Amino acid sequence: NSKIRIGIVGYGNLGRGAELAISQNQDMELVAIFTRRKPDSLDTKSNVVHISNMLDFKNKIDVMLLCGGSAKDLGEQVPMTSQYFNTVDSFDNHKKIPEYFEQVNNIAKKSNKLSLISVGWDPGLFSLIRLLGETILPDGTNYTFWGKGISQGHSDAIRKIKGVKDGVQYTVPSEEILKKVKNFENLNISPCKMHKRICYVVCKDGEDLSRIENEIKTMPNYFADYDTTVNFISEEELKRNHSKMPHGGFVIRTGTTKSNAKHKIEFNLSLDSNPEFTSSILVAYARAVNKMALEGKTGAITIFDIPLVYLSPKTGEQLRRELL
Ligand code: NDP
Repeated sequence: NSKIRIGIVGYGNLGRGAELAISQNQDMELVAIFTRRKPDSLDTKSNVVHISNMLDFKNKIDVMLLCGGSAKDLGEQVPMTSQYFNTVDSFDNHKKIPEYFEQVNNIAKKSNKLSLISVGWDPGLFSLIRLLGETILPDGTNYTFWGKGISQGHSDAIRKIKGVKDGVQYTVPSEEILKKVKNFENLNISPCKMHKRICYVVCKDGEDLSRIENEIKTMPNYFADYDTTVNFISEEELKRNHSKMPHGGFVIRTGTTKSNAKHKIEFNLSLDSNPEFTSSILVAYARAVNKMALEGKTGAITIFDIPLVYLSPKTGEQLRRELL
């Protein structure tokens, strides 16, 4: 009964979270963290290896957790890694997933490896609930609300404005719309109306605050179509109150069965740390990938393709007794 040997590629928020999550699972061991930076520059007690030496670990790692960013890193690192290892990643650019799936599938099929792509909470757990909802209640509607949580992309956009020193942006579900959805009102509504954007901004001295507020609120694609609030605060307050990474959200399906009986499925996440939670998902799914790879499955798969029983270290008999 040897442990599942795990590697982590990329040591950012997700990578650090994965390191912690592995230590909570007795059937796993962290073999190495691979980074593009100087290995001795990372602040960790784990074994750190430069990414260029990854192939030295070819038969020493069962599953690689790819923890790089979706914008650039994963598109390069996953195809490279899946030539030699089974992989799990959290690629979250929803529109590009089909194309990304094809790319990784071709490589993993050739190398006889198994690559689980785009697993996390959205895409990920939320996707499962959306699928469950629409199959069980075919006459109905799925609603996805994100937040309250920090959006990295929107925070970056604020920080790029002239005169802004620092800032964060929270995406917050509209209470009013959430209530309507929960009350079975049928809404045909865009995500812009379902969410509000709340910004906390630190400006450089002597800047024109109304110009900055206006630039944020009218920024196309990011803020213009949303109900946006801008709060100017001090650097100390930003550090004190806004340096954590909370997130969460709701997936709700409302629908009717043939007699017009109404039903609602509701799934809610409330997370103190988005990266620690997301990497805990990657780690649980690494167990499933290891089992399926041992059974001979190859190519790319998504969360839809994995029976839940594969996630657990327990036997089927144990699960039937304890959880069914
Ligand atoms: P980070 O920006 O923290 O890390 C990305 C990469 O940047 C790391 O792998 C690391 O690579 C490098 N890096 C990190 N810190 C530093 C530093 N101080 N100096 C230089 N390089 C650094 O991203 P996150 O971990 O927060 O997020 C990764 C991705 O996870 C996101 O892009 C998002 O797509 C995805 N995600 C998906 C979710 C889902 O539900 N599906 C939920 C949450 C996140 P290296 O060690 O090689 O330098």
